[in-house]
Amino acid sequence: MLTVFSDNHRLHHGCELKDGAVTPSFENPQRADTVLARVRSAGLGDVIGAQAFDRACYVAAHSERYVAFLENAWAEWTATGKTHDALPLVWPVRDLAIDREPGFIDGKLGFYAMDAGAPITAGTWQAVRSSADVALTAMQRVIDGAPSAFALCRPPGHHAAREYMGGYCYLNNAAIAAERCLSQGAERVAVLDVDFHHGNGTQNIFYDRPDVFFASIHGDPHVSYPYFSGFEHERGAGAGEGFTLNYPLARGTVWTGYRQALSDALGRIVAYKPDFLVVSLGVDTFEGDPISHFKLTSDDFLRLGADIAGAGIATLFVMEGGYMVDEIGINAVNTLQGFEGGR
Ligand SMILES: [Zn+2]
Repeated sequence: MLTVFSDNHRLHHGCELKDGAVTPSFENPQRADTVLARVRSAGLGDVIGAQAFDRACYVAAHSERYVAFLENAWAEWTATGKTHDALPLVWPVRDLAIDREPGFIDGKLGFYAMDAGAPITAGTWQAVRSSADVALTAMQRVIDGAPSAFALCRPPGHHAAREYMGGYCYLNNAAIAAERCLSQGAERVAVLDVDFHHGNGTQNIFYDRPDVFFASIHGDPHVSYPYFSGFEHERGAGAGEGFTLNYPLARGTVWTGYRQALSDALGRIVAYKPDFLVVSLGVDTFEGDPISHFKLTSDDFLRLGADIAGAGIATLFVMEGGYMVDEIGINAVNTLQGFEGGR
C-alpha cells in the first residue's frame, strides 16, 4: 500500500490545556515519525511526498472565513506582541452571540475553536495545509484506481468542523478527501471513523447531506471527550437524516464488543453502496493509550483492517489519533497490513 507523508508536520507542536495546566500537547511530531518508521521497517510499500492542492479544496469542507482565520491567526497573534502559542480563552456558548465574528484575535480564537486543545504556533498553518495535501494526494491515487492508500496525516483532522478547530485538529483531512471524491465524479462516499474519540467535526460537515455516509465507533461521550457529541440519537438532519450513525461504547470495551459495532457499521456502509470509503484511522483504541479507555490489542488492529477489507470498497486510510507513541506505528501499520491480507 502506498503511503503519502510530508515532513512539514514537524513545523507544528504546541501546548494544550489539560487537567488544569498548560502542558506540551500529547499530539507531538514523534507520533507521525514513529508511524513512518514502522511503514518502512514493515515494508508496507512506497512512500511519496504530498502534491500541493488549491485552497478551494479545503474550503470545500470548511467555510471561507474559517480557512482565512487559520491562515492569518499567527500573524494576528504576534501583532499583539505575543510570541508563545495562541490558545482561546472565551467561547460563545448557549445564549452568547454566535452570529458575528469578533474583530480581535482573542475573540476570533474562541469563535473558531471548541476547546483549548488546538494551539496555533508559528508553523501551524503550513503543517495543517500540508496534512490536508497528504490526504488529497493519497485520495487522488485511489480515485485514479488504486485499491487503497494511506495518508499519514499530522495534525489529525476529525474534530475540525466546518467552522471550528479543536482536539488537535484544524482542517478535516478525511472530509476534505471525501469532498475531493465528489468533485471528481463520485456520487456517494462513506467515512468510517474508528478513532477512540467521536469524529464530531466530520459529522458536523456532512450532517444534513445524503451524499456522504458517516459512521463513528467511539468512547461513550457521557464519560469521554468530546462529551457533547457522538450520542446514538444523532442520526443526521433534513436530507441527511439516517446518513449518520454513532456507536458509543463503554469504557473498557474489548475486541469482541468492538467488533459487533464494527460489523454493523460495515454492513450499513456496504448497503449504502459508496464509490469510496475513507477511514479515519485513530489507534487510540489501544489498551495502552494514555488518554483513552478501550482495550484493543496490537493483534486486534490486524483484525480491524481485515474486517474493513471485507467491505470490498476502494479505501483511503487517514491517520487521526493514537498517543501511545511506542506502539502507534505497530498498531497503525497492523491495520493496513490486516486490510491488505483481508482483500
Ligand atoms: Zn482520538
